[in-house]
Amino acid sequence: MSKNSSVRKFDVMIVGAGVPGLIAALEMSSAGLQVALIESREIAETPPGKHIRMSAINIVSERILNKLKCWDEMATDKASPFREISVSDAEGVGRVQFSYRDIGREYLGNIVANELLIQALLHRAKELPNLLFFCPAQISVMKILDEVVKIKLIDETECEVKLLVGADGAESWVRKSLNIPIQEIPYNHTAIVATVKTEHAHSSVARQRFTPNGPIAFLPLHDSHYCSIVWSTIPEEAQALMDLDVGELGKKMAAAINFELGNVAVVDKPIAFPLIMRHATHYVHPRVALIGDAAHTIHPLAGQGLNLGILDAACLSEVVVTQFYAKRDIGLVQNLRRYERWRRSDNQMMIDAMNFFKEGFAVQQGFLKQLRDITLKLTNRNRWLRKIFMHHAMGFRGELPRVAKL
Ligand SMILES: Cc1cc2nc3c(=O)[nH]c(=O)nc-3n(C[C@H](O)[C@H](O)[C@H](O)COP(=O)(O)OP(=O)(O)OC[C@H]3O[C@@H](n4cnc5c(N)ncnc54)[C@H](O)[C@@H]3O)c2cc1C
Repeated sequence: MSKNSSVRKFDVMIVGAGVPGLIAALEMSSAGLQVALIESREIAETPPGKHIRMSAINIVSERILNKLKCWDEMATDKASPFREISVSDAEGVGRVQFSYRDIGREYLGNIVANELLIQALLHRAKELPNLLFFCPAQISVMKILDEVVKIKLIDETECEVKLLVGADGAESWVRKSLNIPIQEIPYNHTAIVATVKTEHAHSSVARQRFTPNGPIAFLPLHDSHYCSIVWSTIPEEAQALMDLDVGELGKKMAAAINFELGNVAVVDKPIAFPLIMRHATHYVHPRVALIGDAAHTIHPLAGQGLNLGILDAACLSEVVVTQFYAKRDIGLVQNLRRYERWRRSDNQMMIDAMNFFKEGFAVQQGFLKQLRDITLKLTNRNRWLRKIFMHHAMGFRGELPRVAKL
């Protein structure tokens, strides 16, 4: 790399403008750091009319987006609040109904289109003078030295940064380039994602039904007759479902949720995602930190993946900004360790919980199946137990970053 003075200097470079990458960029730049954000895909000013990738955003994530002044744009008409969660077992008698009434709130969370959330964050990013967005752009050369990371982008732009953040998703280029080890175990599930129109109104209830091969979720959208579906099942069944025409697929979906919403019509082309559990052994490396799917991917059965990534972004930002204000080197691994300790155990706990639910609902007979029936019934009757589950799902676990506190 050249030694000329056209090298651009930043405190932090974030690779990947997904939701966690954007949140980290907004938090750090609004605290005064010079930040570069690099995104490889072209992001359209106006996203396509159909938004097939939907996510359930919990209350803690909403608080973080609110503090960053991005939630108002979503709350008007782009977020669909759900007031209840109904979890049922296709093979048993159990059902648990989680309600906003139990916790004295107006709703339990919101369903949002990932692309619209990214747009809201980008609108805010444009207002911050010390946040520079390179898009479409990619790193071609990265050299980690003692005091800086030297970067060359594909268009030959040269940069020097104190800290590089890998927010570049499950196949993270940053993680792979540094050979950061990762535990990787396929879930033996494929998720089919689609938008459907239902005969009966969803009444703002998020429905999840565990079938013998895996769970199907109907997530309520803004229009009371539309839902986003996430159907996780074994790869053979997923392939057979993807081979159906949309009319037949709608019938299978209606049956899988036990016709709770009547007939179902699939309104767009479904997409299939193979599901893999991944967890990086380390989230930090000299001058590098990983957040979001670059650090972990989990089963979508409880809609937590993105929420974990949002917490990673908020916690890393707090650690980095604290070091920056104390005039310490933000790229030293010992100054980043607090972030790894803070987030890795919470993410591992969530990975373990998803494995427990996935395997627990796969049991078809015997003592474990009876135990599941009893547990579901007990939970449904016990408000205190339901509240514990709800608080965890809403993100109220462990120490929250300052930006998530009221
Ligand atoms: C079927 C399914 C349903 C889900 N439902 C939910 C849900 O309801 N709630 C929830 O919380 N989570 C959910 N998740 C998880 C959630 O979608 C992910 O955790 C989240 O999108 C991860 O965000 P990310 O920014 O870390 O990664 P990504 O969304 O993959 O974003 C990474 C970004 O980095 C960019 N990039 C990649 N490589 C480079 C590079 N070399 N240089 C520059 N840029 C690069 C990409 O273009 C992309 O913009 C679900 C996941 C699946 C599979």
